[in-house]
Amino acid sequence: MTDSPVPPVTSAQLESLAHLVSPDGSREQLLVRAPYDDSVVGEVPLCTPEDVQSTVDEARTARSEWSTWPVEDRAAVFRRFHDALLDRRESLLDVIQTETGKARPDALEEVLDAATTARYYANLAERALTPTRRSGAVPFVTKTVEHHHPVGVVGVISPWNYPLSLSVSESIPALLAGNAVVLKPDEGTPFTALWALDLLRECGLPDTVLQVVTGEGPTLGDSLIEGVDYVSFTGSTEVGRIVAETAGRHLTDCSLELGGKNPLLVLDDADVDAAARGAARGCFANAGQLCISIERIYVHESVADDFRDAFIRETQALTLDAGYDYDHDVGSLLDQELLEKVEAHVSDAVEKGATVLTGGRARPELGPYFYEPTVLTDVTPEMTLADEETFGPVVSLYEVESVSEAIERANDSAYGLNASVWTQNTERGEQVATRLDAGTVNVNEAYVAAWASIDAPMGGMKDSGLGRRHGRHGLVKYTEPQTVATQRFGLLSPPKRGKRLWADGATLGLRLWKRLTELGP
Ligand code: NAD
Repeated sequence: MTDSPVPPVTSAQLESLAHLVSPDGSREQLLVRAPYDDSVVGEVPLCTPEDVQSTVDEARTARSEWSTWPVEDRAAVFRRFHDALLDRRESLLDVIQTETGKARPDALEEVLDAATTARYYANLAERALTPTRRSGAVPFVTKTVEHHHPVGVVGVISPWNYPLSLSVSESIPALLAGNAVVLKPDEGTPFTALWALDLLRECGLPDTVLQVVTGEGPTLGDSLIEGVDYVSFTGSTEVGRIVAETAGRHLTDCSLELGGKNPLLVLDDADVDAAARGAARGCFANAGQLCISIERIYVHESVADDFRDAFIRETQALTLDAGYDYDHDVGSLLDQELLEKVEAHVSDAVEKGATVLTGGRARPELGPYFYEPTVLTDVTPEMTLADEETFGPVVSLYEVESVSEAIERANDSAYGLNASVWTQNTERGEQVATRLDAGTVNVNEAYVAAWASIDAPMGGMKDSGLGRRHGRHGLVKYTEPQTVATQRFGLLSPPKRGKRLWADGATLGLRLWKRLTELGP
């Protein structure tokens, strides 16, 4: 094994962040490891369900004052955070890489995403949260206004694969809406969230408005979900079902961003080289540990050979290695469990007749969890990876005879998160996109175009989730909408006498109203 690069961030620096965990104190510790060499890089408190309860109580107290801040003052915190994130980009990238083992360009995506989210919601918040006049029950007589109040305390439960984007970016709109947030990052990646918490406090976020609890999901999950007023969960479909059940028992609203088995379609008129480059990024970004990454490719038979050759070339050109610089394309998998899952998916497929076109093996000399970008063909339905999410650098290549077949096979999945369509006729691509069961579809791009279009909703159909992040909805989901309707005259209830006349008048009124509304806007 080659010497693993020394993390530029020291254990002492990481552990200085551990005191930000709420509540701090002497207790059992959770060890955090660097996937590049499996060394322990720091430890954080192993919180208990009681800790979570007291943290939620504290957050509820903090929320009372925070929600009275003018929206512009709340937005100012996140505008400062935007600039500070970009100023300290390199230090944050060191922390993200240390605890995830991802390549630096993949870590950079997270920093750009968090800054974009801070800017977007800081600009949107005032507009989205200002009370809005709505059409009243009776024009000119009923004055109706829609208000949005913060829900209270939001619980954010996040995974390890994008420890900044999926924890901090998700907390930003909840905070801007006037809520307090209790964030539970994944067991393996608490330091990125703590680093960002430290920076947010430096940017003016009051101390207990955002708090981080560290520990095991199955131990802390119930008490967090029971205590809060809204749950934002990102993670596996399996755990998402547990979260939804617990939230359902407490009638607590939730959004669930879950797994995917995302298809990419190469149509007969695609620019094959561009599609191959895009597919290589779409399949192997973050070593395939990305909910919206591509795990199935359907290519039209007329371009199948050219695409396959170009795609293999692009895949083999990716550099796989450990390093805290921008020189590598693909980093490590997270841990032994994930490496074993990837190996099991590939060996099951190969045993049942799949062909490895490139990759297909672990690279322990680079680090304990490195696995080569892998392209398979001859994949059949009885193979585990045909339907199940691998969550690693493995993709299956299928040849199809028509666009309809490609759409049908792409939709033949329990998941519906992301998809990608490649064609030189973008209008055709957009038509195909609307026939795909996926919450986001990228035409001539794999995943970044839709994800980074932060003004538009992002989330999953079918088993890929409930609710959406991003866009206006990504902010107002953290509010309780309230309608206040003021009636100027008592026209809405029948009078004591003359009920028949009132009924005729109401009927005539509705007929006229229909006519008027048919005339124009
Ligand atoms: P996971 O579901 O195992 O864990 C996610 C989080 O849930 C962690 O913080 C974990 O501690 C917590 N958790 C575990 N058990 C819990 C319980 N019983 N109650 C409450 N919380 C619990 O997921 P993972 O392995 O960390 O992440 C990979 C999965 O996440 C993949 O399936 C991937 O597709 C999905 N994902 C989805 C999106 C999206 O936006 N749709 C984004 C990233 C990852």
